[in-house]
Amino acid sequence: MHLLVIGGSDAGISAALRARELDGEVDITVVLADAYPNFSICGIPYYVSGDVTDWHDLAHRSRSDIEALGITVVTDTAAERIDVADHEVTARGRGGATIELGYDRLVIATGARPVRPPIAGIEHLGPAEGVHLLHTMTDTHAVMETITGRRVESAVIVGAGYIGLEMAEALCTRGIEVTEIEALPEVLPTVDRELAHLVRDELTGHGVDVETATKVTGIDVSSGRLSVEMTGKAAGRERSAKTGRATGRATGKATGGRSEQVADMVLVVTGVEPDTTLAGKAGIDLAGNGAIVVDRRMATNAPDVFAAGDCVVTHHVLIGETYLPLGTTAHKQGRVAGENAIGGDRCFAGSLGTQVVKVFDVVAARTGLRDDEAEAAGFHPRTEGSIADDHKAYYPGAGAVHVRTTGDAKSGRLLGVQMIGAIRTAVHKRIDTAATAIFAGLTLDELSDLDLSYTPPLGSPWDVLQAAAQRWVMPAG
Ligand SMILES: Cc1cc2nc3c(=O)[nH]c(=O)nc-3n(C[C@H](O)[C@H](O)[C@H](O)COP(=O)(O)OP(=O)(O)OC[C@H]3O[C@@H](n4cnc5c(N)ncnc54)[C@H](O)[C@@H]3O)c2cc1C
Repeated sequence: MHLLVIGGSDAGISAALRARELDGEVDITVVLADAYPNFSICGIPYYVSGDVTDWHDLAHRSRSDIEALGITVVTDTAAERIDVADHEVTARGRGGATIELGYDRLVIATGARPVRPPIAGIEHLGPAEGVHLLHTMTDTHAVMETITGRRVESAVIVGAGYIGLEMAEALCTRGIEVTEIEALPEVLPTVDRELAHLVRDELTGHGVDVETATKVTGIDVSSGRLSVEMTGKAAGRERSAKTGRATGRATGKATGGRSEQVADMVLVVTGVEPDTTLAGKAGIDLAGNGAIVVDRRMATNAPDVFAAGDCVVTHHVLIGETYLPLGTTAHKQGRVAGENAIGGDRCFAGSLGTQVVKVFDVVAARTGLRDDEAEAAGFHPRTEGSIADDHKAYYPGAGAVHVRTTGDAKSGRLLGVQMIGAIRTAVHKRIDTAATAIFAGLTLDELSDLDLSYTPPLGSPWDVLQAAAQRWVMPAG
């Protein structure tokens, strides 16, 4: 049996490792387009910030660790064609030579690519001018070259999703003046505005200039610096004549006018789209957004072809098929694909979109559905906000955790939780308890009954999450 895996990141390597774990004899080859097998791209912001000093340390495991398991790793080689009838893949190396790779079973794990928003000029600009997208280690090296190779004093980040926020912190840590621009009304649009404004406060408290409800419409190079043109709310603010950086308070008015800001570097991080040109050309079924259609076993419609990670549709526990590109999900799907590719019969249990982000000293997290998402999925949602200390207030260092809890008004089932608190308030683990409860199908009443741990320096007899559940069951007023 020869298992071929296309893609050598979270999903692809997870597939190869699981296949090896289950079968010491199967012949496994992983082919990847770049030179960085099994790198933790989630760690990129911490290399850029300087918290991780050597980029090699971002590898989950080294190439030789993988090869020591008898897995062949072919780097710098892009698969260009899959012949599903003949079970053959044509790939091209950096030097231009093509190779044919036969397979008995194939796992496609080609991931995602960054979205290029419609910004005038962006198609002609790149790392040489200080304009960057950020998804791969190659992108990371280019960002670091810009930061260290030229005098970068200011940066504009387009997009205030979790990568944009992590990068704002990273660049600030390097002493760079950061302007974060977001087209939507609030930063971190994956959580409710009632909580996201606390993330904005954290950013502005650390000197980040945050411009929401503002669209970047163009980027130009003038006198060796980048000039970023925007429309929307930011256009209503007074700006410094020298840098264009906001100096006055926001007027709060969407003037519809334009303003400009100069910067030494622009980072465009406005989301990703599935990278599935290869699969599409092979006749493999794609969903409306271009993600590969897979069943719960991670099998595609093509015989002996499986797929996993950011390139596929994701089964969501509460809403069925969706698209949720996350490292956690890619690892799990890859493991399932690897197992089934060599004859197993495992199902991907499903995602809840559980995610967490650290922005300076606060942590924001969510799992499950928000009110509007739950309603769109046919539930009868009600969302309640609550605030509780992470541990007993008499013990030093207690901090508030802000929670929004969504449940189904008819059944009482827990559907979603969002949380924000200081790092030391263990938001990341509390959200995991919520994810476990949703996965298990608990009602909010049952969540309140769980036997959770308590000692005054770390918690309360009723955990933050249980206090939130009780508030949902008996809303105030
Ligand atoms: C800066 C950053 C921070 C992140 N932080 C988090 C986080 O904190 N938590 C979280 O859960 N997720 C995070 N993510 C998302 C997470 O990294 C991705 O969901 C995950 O890496 C997806 O893994 P993947 O294997 O599906 O795809 P990718 O990581 O995109 O890898 C795709 C692989 O396919 C290869 N490839 C593509 N086309 C071809 C081809 N034609 N031939 C051969 N090889 C090919 C590529 O070289 C690569 O090896 C972050 C992402 C970024 C960019």
